[in-house]
Amino acid sequence: MTRVALIAHDDEKPTMIDLVSEYEGVLSNFELVTTGTTGQRIQTETGLTVDRKESGPVGGDTQIGAEVVDGEIDGVIFLQDPMTAQPHEPDIGALVRICDVHDVPLATCRSAGEYVIQGLARDAGIQ
Ligand code: PGA
Repeated sequence: MTRVALIAHDDEKPTMIDLVSEYEGVLSNFELVTTGTTGQRIQTETGLTVDRKESGPVGGDTQIGAEVVDGEIDGVIFLQDPMTAQPHEPDIGALVRICDVHDVPLATCRSAGEYVIQGLARDAGIQ
């Protein structure tokens, strides 16, 4: 089954909820893996269930990166806050890099996230 990772920095969590809500019907066909707080909000504010990893700053991005290495992830939507420095920048850079290494599509803004969802839905034969 298509497995998609969803991660959002704090200022971007409302945008993630908005995106996930708009595409809830499509995303309900996918396995979803998230960092801790992002996943908690998605489960609370939508009808979707997710595989929640640790919070980003304590290793959640790294856990998702390991899944990318293992070939378990088909796409990543990572809504980064472009205006705020993060304590876990090395982890963020590592996730972005490892997506490039393994040719896994990575979206870092809402509109790119829509294309990732739509592309994965097309590949899976979902309308
Ligand atoms: P969070 O982690 O979903 O636990 O807030 C996201 C991040 O900061 O990478």
